[in-house]
Amino acid sequence: MKDIKIKVTGTTGRITLDRPDALNAVTYQMCLAIETALDTWREDTGVSQVVLDGAGERAFCSGGDIAELYAAGLRWDFGFGQRFWADEYRLNAKIFAYPKPIISFLQGFTMGGGVGIGCHGSHRIVGESSKIAMPECGIGLVPDVGGSLMLALAPGRLGEYLALTAARMSAGDAILAGFADLFIPQAHWPDLIRRLENGETPECLQAASAPAPAEGLAGLQPLIDSHFGGETLGDIQNSLQRDHSDFAKQATKSLRRNSPLSMACAVEIIHRLRGPSASIEKALDLEYRFTSRAMEHGDFIEGIRAAIIDKDRKPNWQYANRNVPAIAVSKMLMPLGENTLKLEETRMSAIKVGFIGLGNMGAPMAANLARAGCIVSGFDTALTSPEGVTIVSDPAAAAQNADVVITMLPNGAILKQVAACVLPTMPKGALLLDCSTVDVESARDVAAQAEDAGILFVDAPVSGGIGGAAAGSLTFMAGGSDTAFAKAKPMFDIMGQKSVHCGASGAGQAAKICNNMILGATMVATCEAFALADKLGLDRQKMFDVVSTSSGSSWSMNTYCPAPGIGPETPADNEYTPGFASELMVKDLGLSQQAAAAVDADTPMGALALALYTRFVEEEEGLGKDFSAMLPRFVARSRPS
Ligand code: NAD
Repeated sequence: MKDIKIKVTGTTGRITLDRPDALNAVTYQMCLAIETALDTWREDTGVSQVVLDGAGERAFCSGGDIAELYAAGLRWDFGFGQRFWADEYRLNAKIFAYPKPIISFLQGFTMGGGVGIGCHGSHRIVGESSKIAMPECGIGLVPDVGGSLMLALAPGRLGEYLALTAARMSAGDAILAGFADLFIPQAHWPDLIRRLENGETPECLQAASAPAPAEGLAGLQPLIDSHFGGETLGDIQNSLQRDHSDFAKQATKSLRRNSPLSMACAVEIIHRLRGPSASIEKALDLEYRFTSRAMEHGDFIEGIRAAIIDKDRKPNWQYANRNVPAIAVSKMLMPLGENTLKLEETRMSAIKVGFIGLGNMGAPMAANLARAGCIVSGFDTALTSPEGVTIVSDPAAAAQNADVVITMLPNGAILKQVAACVLPTMPKGALLLDCSTVDVESARDVAAQAEDAGILFVDAPVSGGIGGAAAGSLTFMAGGSDTAFAKAKPMFDIMGQKSVHCGASGAGQAAKICNNMILGATMVATCEAFALADKLGLDRQKMFDVVSTSSGSSWSMNTYCPAPGIGPETPADNEYTPGFASELMVKDLGLSQQAAAAVDADTPMGALALALYTRFVEEEEGLGKDFSAMLPRFVARSRPS
């Protein structure tokens, strides 16, 4: 796999983080790959120990790939971050409790997520260039990945000091604070790794170690303990402000850079952990309470914006006066109820999925399932083959022995054909999960056929487009029994960020039809407004800047902007290659009007959007173009006389 090298030499498993240009920052996929390797080696008697190292000289690992999280947060996809953190924390707990020696070599920067990978193993080696830090409060998070446990266990009030100032620990400091075990001059590291790979045990490390150069933290301990011993962030700030020493001035300056809410919560987490009941599970649970709320209610998005997106280093923090009320801390650290962090195995490796219809949407959805560990067999008449999916020769072969068959097809007639073919081959009690957008009647027909065959059925059309399909952040609107929905839920959690159980069979399609009627009408309105803006001489970017944050905003404007070069990347930037094809919008609007006629509902906007899209596809070269290509269509036209 790109970005990480995993191999076994002799009886030593070796995992090398291999993104030196990004200071080996860990992505979601890298976390999953490390976890898979450790799971495999745990039971493998041929592997006796694990070496963890990083490529390049500048860093073992500078943290988690926060740009990935930021992009999801901007889409209001909080589920991606929650899933990333939950899976990352499960990996941290596994490293902490791993039954075999894990030897990590921590050159250069080891920060944040890097600490979670490099500092929980049994033998943590530091050298001359090591710089270890927990700088999360600077981006609106709290020290996490189990780092809060080490901070709580550090001598005196070092924990609070390191969390609040993000001070970089040298090798000696890291050993003092409990983040590392042995100082070994880095010139010896390649030879030591070779010896470990040739079968020597970690005993060889002790012999190569040397006293760490004397460093600053030990000398500062009395000052740190006197200033950082308060109950709350406020106490700590007050204590520092009363002191005019260089230490106090420097520490105050560091605190000014960070999110007050994050710092107040970090102090509270460390205090709750300190004491005999401290454990990695408790630390990760408290950290997750904060991080799972950080995008929506904390300062995380603003912190990343200021640090790595706009790089203005001027974050607009909440509680900028640095008086954080106790209630704000309590709210961030309240128990999460049913969303509590679960460290037990939640991976999908045992689930067999048949996936039929691997087009614009189906292909990335199937690839996400495969990436999460499901065994996916796929079939598409167009013979597409997404990464990780085993392609078979017909739908029945994909369905044989499958726990779940997922369909992502163009329409109800094709769904019925495919269902007739797969239902007889599916094992009893398996689930047929249709994610296509089809008419309510077809969904109910297939539900009835499935029931006759002893198969569970859920109609679960999606919203979120190809971007959401690729990012695993779709919204599913589901219809079916409680049992069928429960069986579908783990699939929804991989492919999406949200699933709503809308009711009995057909209810998912009803929700989808209403949603897409709104989408068709708002896209038409957005496109005609851009065309009008052009003719009024209003710059498109200015129009976007205003509308995307004003009452005219919508998904069509903010996330799927029809104007090329404006807003996030969309099909408009790719000459309107779908995306979501105009003919599919005609289909969905047609379904809405068919449904409206059946129940006698008055839907004039939906009817007008259908008429416009039908003309676009049939008479105005819209066929095969993304549905946002309505914009050039409006631009090219004059007002009808
Ligand atoms: P698509 O045309 O890209 O994919 C459909 C795939 O089904 C194609 O690859 C086609 O070859 C395959 N197919 C057709 N008949 C088949 C058969 N008998 N057996 C196996 N494969 C068959 O369409 P898409 O954009 O992926 O959309 C799929 C569904 O998702 C549609 O119902 C659509 O309305 C819905 N949807 C699409 C989007 C979007 O943004 N594209 C968003 C939400 C919902």
